[in-house]
Order: sequence, then C-alpha cells, then structure tokens
Amino acid sequence: MHLLELRYARRITNASRQAAQYRHGRVFLAGDAAHVHLPLGAQGMNTGMQDAFNLGWKLGAAVHGWAPEDLLDTYHAERHPAGAAVLRNVRAQSLLMDWAGTRDPDVLAAREIFTDMARIPDVQHHLADLMSGMAVRYPMPGADTHPLVGRPAPDLDLGTARTHELLRSGRGVLLDPADTFAEVAGPWSDRVDRVGQGSDTEPMLVRPDGYVCWAGADDPEPALARWFGEPR
Ligand SMILES: Cc1cc2nc3c(=O)[nH]c(=O)nc-3n(C[C@H](O)[C@H](O)[C@H](O)COP(=O)(O)OP(=O)(O)OC[C@H]3O[C@@H](n4cnc5c(N)ncnc54)[C@H](O)[C@@H]3O)c2cc1C
Repeated sequence: MHLLELRYARRITNASRQAAQYRHGRVFLAGDAAHVHLPLGAQGMNTGMQDAFNLGWKLGAAVHGWAPEDLLDTYHAERHPAGAAVLRNVRAQSLLMDWAGTRDPDVLAAREIFTDMARIPDVQHHLADLMSGMAVRYPMPGADTHPLVGRPAPDLDLGTARTHELLRSGRGVLLDPADTFAEVAGPWSDRVDRVGQGSDTEPMLVRPDGYVCWAGADDPEPALARWFGEPR
C-alpha cells in the first residue's frame, strides 16, 4: 500500500503548559491559549468552554458598568486552579499509559494498583467528577460554608420553559421558595431574576455561569453585592 495524499497532519505531544496569569490588564487568556495538554480524557474543550462561561458574564458586567471592582480578577482566581487540576490529572494519565513506551516496571506496578482502585465505585465517581469538571469548587470567601456554594447549581425542576428562559437571560437567579427575599433582592432586579414560590429547592443565588454563590437561610444581601455590584 502506498500513501498518496496527506489529508490531516497534526503533531501531538505530552507538553503540558499553563499560562502563569490568565489576565494581564485588558487581555484575558481562555481555552487552549491558557492551557494545553495531551487530549487524554477529552477535557480540553470543556475546560475552555468553562473558562468562557466564567469570563463572559464578568466582561458583560464590566461593560454595563455594574461589575464590582475586583470581579474581573476572580476569573484568574477561579479558573487557574481549575486548569491546573486538569493538567494534573492528564499528567497522571500520561504516566499510567506509559506514553513514552518505556515499559518501566515501576509504571506498570502503579498502573496495576490504579486499575484495582478504579474498580471501587467511590473512586469511579471521583474520577468522573474530575474528568467532567464537576469536582471544581470555586473559592468564595465568606460564603463557602454551605456545601452548594462554589459548585455548579444542582439540577432543578422549574419547568422546561421557565428554565430555558432563565438560562438564556444571562442574568443571576435567586431561588426563593418561601418568598422571603423579595424586598432585599428588589434593588438588584435589573441583574438578578428572583424565582419565588414554586421553586421546590432550598434558597440559593446562582451566577450567570451557573455557579452557586450563596445558599441557605442567611441574608443574601452581601452575596448580591459581592457578585452583582452596587444596588440600583
Ligand atoms: C487530537 C486532539 C483530540 C482532542 N480531543 C478532544 C476531545 O475529545 N474533547 C475535548 O474536549 N477536547 C479535545 N481536544 C482539545 C480541544 O480540541 C481544544 O481544547 C479546543 O479545540 C480548544 O479550543 P480553543 O477555542 O481554545 O482553541 P482553538 O480550537 O485552537 O481555536 C483557536 C482559533 O484561533 C485561530 N487563530 C490563531 N491565531 C490567530 C490569529 N492571530 N488571528 C486569528 N485567528 C487566530 C486558530 O486558527 C483557531 O481557529 C483535542 C485536541 C486534539 C489535538
């Protein structure tokens, strides 16, 4: 058989690299410009898209003039550790698959032990959370005592049409099942939709990127100001 035509040529290496800073003044790095790695576990695109979700609404807030002063800096603070975690698990996978083909007995021993551990359901869940990005928890000083805070909002049953509408709006969402926070949330009503009775969930404030930034029964006002700026 002879090769006649080259249709696709690409060099793939195990060079894992991450930019030291995702923000330099008015320049932001996202996606492969911020982090590159072997395509093990198919994580590159998802990680880049999560960068974009995280940055997009913050840029929008800055453009519309209501972003709190350090909102744009939280992009690096939140996404750099998430990118580093992906590089870490890719490096581990690269070692275990013996990318360089060394057949190193130490690597083979580690692979056997890892294979045994990967049969344990809790380990499988942990690895699935790592690969899917669901293990990411953003640091949210002052509010992160609640287990939901800093994590993607859980699946909520608000009805398909209403959920679509909320997702497409690009605004924050305050879930307020007992209608407790109408007054406190009023001054942010141009940036945050409040969903009152009918939301069968515990109270939580969800940022436009889908991450919970406050949950529980305390006063949501500090979190509203922290993420959505000065009240109107
Ligand atoms: C073999 C392989 C398999 C992969 N498999 C998966 C997978 O299964 N799942 C997954 O999630 N990820 C996978 N990835 C990773 C994924 O493809 C990347 O993480 C993703 O495409 C990065 O998107 P991006 O928009 O950040 O960068 P890119 O897709 O590289 O987009 C950057 C764009 O900018 C353009 N550009 C560059 N310089 C300039 C310039 N000066 N002016 C204008 N335009 C410019 C480029 O032409 C390009 O179109 C794989 C990668 C490889 C190599």
